[in-house]
Amino acid sequence: MEPKKVAIIGAGVSGLAACKFTLSKGFIPIVFEARGAIGGVWTETLQTTALQTPKEMYRFSDFPWPKTVTEEFPKYNQVLDYLKSYADHFGLMKHIRFNTKVLSIDCEGCSDEELDGWTLWGGSGEAFSERRKWRLNVVDARTNDPLEEIVVDFVILCIGRFSDVPNIPEFPPNGGPEAFKAGKVLHSLQYSAMDFDTASNLIKDKQVTVVGLQKSALDLAMECANANGPKNPCTLLYRTAHWNLPDHHPWGIPLTFLYMSRFAELLIHKPGESFLLYLLAIILSPIRWLFAKIVETYATRKHGLAKYGMVPTHGFLQDISSCLLASLPEKFYEKVDQGSIILKKSQSFWFCEDGIMIEGETKPIRSDLVILATGFRGDQKLKQIFTSATFRDCMTFDDSVIPLYRQCIHPRIPQLAVIGFTESPSNLFTSELRCRWVTEFLDGTFKLPSIKEMEKDIANWEKSLTYYSGPFSKRACLAIVHIWYSDLLCKDMGWNPKRKKGFIANLFVPHGPSDYATP
Ligand SMILES: Cc1cc2nc3c(=O)[nH]c(=O)nc-3n(C[C@H](O)[C@H](O)[C@H](O)COP(=O)(O)OP(=O)(O)OC[C@H]3O[C@@H](n4cnc5c(N)ncnc54)[C@H](O)[C@@H]3O)c2cc1C
Repeated sequence: MEPKKVAIIGAGVSGLAACKFTLSKGFIPIVFEARGAIGGVWTETLQTTALQTPKEMYRFSDFPWPKTVTEEFPKYNQVLDYLKSYADHFGLMKHIRFNTKVLSIDCEGCSDEELDGWTLWGGSGEAFSERRKWRLNVVDARTNDPLEEIVVDFVILCIGRFSDVPNIPEFPPNGGPEAFKAGKVLHSLQYSAMDFDTASNLIKDKQVTVVGLQKSALDLAMECANANGPKNPCTLLYRTAHWNLPDHHPWGIPLTFLYMSRFAELLIHKPGESFLLYLLAIILSPIRWLFAKIVETYATRKHGLAKYGMVPTHGFLQDISSCLLASLPEKFYEKVDQGSIILKKSQSFWFCEDGIMIEGETKPIRSDLVILATGFRGDQKLKQIFTSATFRDCMTFDDSVIPLYRQCIHPRIPQLAVIGFTESPSNLFTSELRCRWVTEFLDGTFKLPSIKEMEKDIANWEKSLTYYSGPFSKRACLAIVHIWYSDLLCKDMGWNPKRKKGFIANLFVPHGPSDYATP
């Protein structure tokens, strides 16, 4: 039988892992990458961008960082070098078509009437079908010239949640960027895409306002503060203070022990848990509270957050369970003390001729440049790639968690998987395990449950993932149930979910990528 063709869209960390595993099972991977290089988000960053996840958590399971990288949080270019050596080591480069953008995908042989009648995924529960294929509409990303259409047996979407489509806030009538005549408005995406000289010339000697308080916003504010000092302070406009951590060792205790061990997961409710585990999570809840307080008191004291009005009103558990864990750049509050960064809080803002207006103030924040570090709309990218209105509807999840079984498979979209949309504390590690799970499924190692069971499971997970995250639940995130989630993938693949030797190690030692290197 002819080997099956698998289209992998995107050559970031998810696409690379998908390529490696499909190759290892004898499929023919064809990777489409709109950019000219591998690495996805890491190819276009600020000059100061570094990992926020410690490198031992952000690595492929069977491919350690080189000894020459000694930093706990390597810089973006070190991440790129690491990804490049991974791609070279596993012979992935020759399978990637660069500067090739997939405009849309169309399922041939899928009719809406047929889909309605299915009880099993794709009608049969099988990964492939002889009469159903995906047709890809492909263009040259530099010229938009159409390239040949490609027909494949399976599609793995690795198009990235935090790239390409900016999230632009809604503004009142006449209060959008067009009202701002005195300067320029950019999204962090555009700023990150500039070469470093152009970017630093752009902010030099300018009054810059940065909107947001996540990683890009904090890094941007630091870049502006370093470039301009107190003479032209950078205003950092945010809506909600978050627990932005100074480091990953609150009071000397590794954060991974507090939140990435089986013991830590005993303290919280998990989807599909037994009555005993449910009860344990209630009985042990004081320890859960204590762990959160360890982090909160550390972050508060270390920087004297109260002085800056930056003590969040919500608990750390809410932030970590929503993957809202931006690391604070070194010397951030020194820049605030120096007057190089001005912190401003407002629930909403709008543009006027000279800059930005915020609630409760009559004068604008005068600006030459406003940079919106307001996140991305990966959800729209995911939805828009389908030509079928039915599949677009399936992928509409504005206000909820992404409806994917095991965070990979939509029960009603056949012969297709999505990797990299539900976040984790280490997106690389999670993407790798998912790619392994998908390729084991393609290889026939296990079968999917019925559509009904998958939908029930998805609803269960949605309830659980939003339980602790409160208003931030839109950021589908597995951070506090990562081992529980990995256990399920392992069990499906026939692996022993216990990844460490001995009861104590299994219970208390943090789990990371290297624990999942072999079955
Ligand atoms: C500034 C920044 C810092 C981050 N730091 C961390 C961190 O420290 N730890 C962590 O765990 N996560 C971090 N992340 C999250 C990061 O998104 C993931 O770690 C990971 O790199 C995502 O990889 P990906 O392959 O899923 O997606 P991406 O890296 O977004 O790659 C998607 C790729 O798909 C391509 N593509 C998209 N659409 C198409 C199409 N239609 N046709 C062809 N190609 C297409 C894109 O060009 C891109 O190369 C960070 C994100 C950002 C933006």
